[in-house]
Amino acid sequence: MKRLQSLLLSIDGKGYKAYRQITGEYAFDDFRLLVDHVQGDPFASPSRLRVVMPWSEIALPDRARVPAPRAVAARDWLGRAFRQATGDTEEVRIDAGRQTVLDRTSVLFTDAGVEVRFTVNLPAKGRTILGKTARDLLCRTLPRVVRRALRPEQRDEAALTRHCDAVEDQVALREGLVARGLVAFVADGACLPRRSGVDDRPLEEAVPARTPESLAVELEAPNAGAVTGLGVSAGITLVVGGGFHGKSTLLSAIQYGVYDHVPGDGRELVVATGDAVKLRAEDGRAVHAMDLSPFINELPYGKSTREFSTELASGSTSQAAALQEALELGAGTLLVDEDTSATNFMIRDARMQALVAKRDEPITPFVDRIAELRDRLGVSTVLVMGGSGDYFGAADTVIQMHDYQPRDVTAEAHRIAREYRTDRHTEAPQPLERPCPRALVTRSLDPAGRRGKRRIKARGMEALEFGDDVVDLRALEQLVDASQVRTIGILLPAPGAEGLLEVDDVPAWFRGHLAQPWEALIRRPDGDLVRPRLQDLMAVLNRLRSARFRPAARDH
Ligand code: ADP
Ligand code: MG
Repeated sequence: MKRLQSLLLSIDGKGYKAYRQITGEYAFDDFRLLVDHVQGDPFASPSRLRVVMPWSEIALPDRARVPAPRAVAARDWLGRAFRQATGDTEEVRIDAGRQTVLDRTSVLFTDAGVEVRFTVNLPAKGRTILGKTARDLLCRTLPRVVRRALRPEQRDEAALTRHCDAVEDQVALREGLVARGLVAFVADGACLPRRSGVDDRPLEEAVPARTPESLAVELEAPNAGAVTGLGVSAGITLVVGGGFHGKSTLLSAIQYGVYDHVPGDGRELVVATGDAVKLRAEDGRAVHAMDLSPFINELPYGKSTREFSTELASGSTSQAAALQEALELGAGTLLVDEDTSATNFMIRDARMQALVAKRDEPITPFVDRIAELRDRLGVSTVLVMGGSGDYFGAADTVIQMHDYQPRDVTAEAHRIAREYRTDRHTEAPQPLERPCPRALVTRSLDPAGRRGKRRIKARGMEALEFGDDVVDLRALEQLVDASQVRTIGILLPAPGAEGLLEVDDVPAWFRGHLAQPWEALIRRPDGDLVRPRLQDLMAVLNRLRSARFRPAARDH
């Protein structure tokens, strides 16, 4: 530390580039400081630093290290503690979470101890180094921050335990769903609505969730014990109800139930199976070599949909593509909301069947496939549909949202389905199959743009800049963090980097890749990464215009 102090004082008043000299490693009393990369000028992206506190000094309880979900939670918590300890020291930044607990690289558990990765804006006046200010920042403020966040006598041990307990419970509840024949669970007392479309914190004074007996299940969580709530069964669940009664809010809580939430979020006992995929219409997106024939057939002028590609999908085509892509990667649960669906993909009623003959309508509506999805492919659907009763017959369970509370109206809906015939006829051409994976030409995933400069940049959660491409992500509702987006961009070229020219089963390849430890995924000590879900990585890849897929081999 003394060496760092005198280095910083010796470069006081010099040009910014002299900061480069502090690259290296320094021993402090109870941790090591590593300066990995120093920014080139005060306006470039900030310098990257790491702190490693040995296990003997940080003295984490065993229950913060095992089992694995508790370690992810503890790392997430330590990142938040570090951010909080920085207070108003704006020069120091760590990539820590908000409502969702994620597997981040900002805090890692290594053999040497706990490694915290963060960035520092090294102080300057214009381009002149402020050596004394830098000395105060790195040798006085930073050690205070590190100790406040990490030292056992200073950190909030009870909060750490609560964080780990909550995450362990969510993982256990989620993993227990299938055995109970469920795809999602919403505990009584949960707070589902959020403050606003841009504020993910719980809505204050929300009406807490409460489940009628016929829909209630009791699950066992390792820490919270027995919890009761709404069990969303496998099969087809229809959510109906008047506008503004909380239908979309329920579905949205379920779609984020693939993630773990922090204590106090309101959704910390709301879970969905990890393979649940939200499907929606997204006109304008690209589609690559996808077999859309189960849903779209005989386009005008006989254009085939067996290997369908477009740079500009329509609403119905984009939703059909999203569904086939979800099936390709093995999704077990589909989440669909009328608010974000294409009407002609969802329904085609008797009057329209009478006016426009089947031979003039390329679309086989979802209503004619939803039972096959369940019966032939074992895929469940949770569908919000307040505007049409055509799904009553197919639904196993019908939940009416009323004043933000679920009611079981299954029997009533089934009676109505018998009494009021829809008079429509089913329009599925051939039996539904899960599509075979397409092959990917890896050289098409090149982040070097035309001018040869590598570019991978997340514009928040709105878009990913990848080479010369900009992938619009606004329809990928299950993304929750910009660092997921950046990590997806960094991981996309991985199969090519491993020397593969083509990948036959892309989801399987990336599933294996994503299961690896961080040090195998990323070489640089980058602290701004979040392990993405396979579903989201594939969703970005499927929308990347420059990506080249080959149609699935059909002969097997
Ligand atoms: P729907 O899809 O049925 O039209 P939404 O789910 O969009 O209704 O909900 C309508 C509004 O009610 C939203 O602003 C939402 O935040 C709010 N809301 C939903 N559930 C609750 C609740 N449990 N308590 C308070 N407000 C809620
Ligand atoms: Mg709605």
